[in-house]
Amino acid sequence: MLFHDLALDPRLVRSIQHLGFAKPTPIQQEAVPAAMTGKDLMVSSQTGSGKTLAYLLPMMQRLLRSRPLSKQDARALILVPTRELAHQVYAKLRLFVANTPLTSALIVGGENFNDQEKILKRQPSIIVATPGRFVDHLQHKSFFIQGLEMLILDEADRMLDLGFMPQLNEINKAADHRLRQTLMFSATLDHAEVNELAMSLLKSPHRVSV
Ligand code: AMP
Repeated sequence: MLFHDLALDPRLVRSIQHLGFAKPTPIQQEAVPAAMTGKDLMVSSQTGSGKTLAYLLPMMQRLLRSRPLSKQDARALILVPTRELAHQVYAKLRLFVANTPLTSALIVGGENFNDQEKILKRQPSIIVATPGRFVDHLQHKSFFIQGLEMLILDEADRMLDLGFMPQLNEINKAADHRLRQTLMFSATLDHAEVNELAMSLLKSPHRVSV
């Protein structure tokens, strides 16, 4: 399979060419078409498998091809366990956001809260965040996620190991929209806590493991 076979928006294909990737990794071959059907996904994925593009591509495709549900709210939220991973994901995301009308923001702990609040008030379309700092902003009501179309959890098992279950539940409630699609990535899918999270966040998820 080639990237061409995924029928992606030409702007995304150009960004992939810019990265120099010849063909999708196995996880991208499975997860991208499955996510493009609109279904919720539960994906077992290791670091190094190409999991970041496995969710960035269907997320970008959906945002580029659909109209926003709400003018004010963020359209997509990517939650990751650590600041380092947030920075890495954000760097990749920016390559894909360039040359599109979409905007993005990085919201992690350890950085100035007021500066982040100003950024959120400008209503970025896509937010990459760690759960703790993100919930601090939600509670401050400087922005809303009721119209969220895509919720992505990267390394969900690590977020649970770090004790983020309450924050994930709070985000889930704040973004409770019938049309929301949720993609959950985790190194393991069989832990009880991962399943509990999947039960509360995902609707009849399609399971992907390669
Ligand atoms: P990830 O698992 O998302 O952290 O990706 C691991 C590494 O593989 C990163 O350096 C990516 O840039 C790279 N990568 C992702 N997708 C592909 C692809 N289709 N072909 C070659 N390298 C890729």
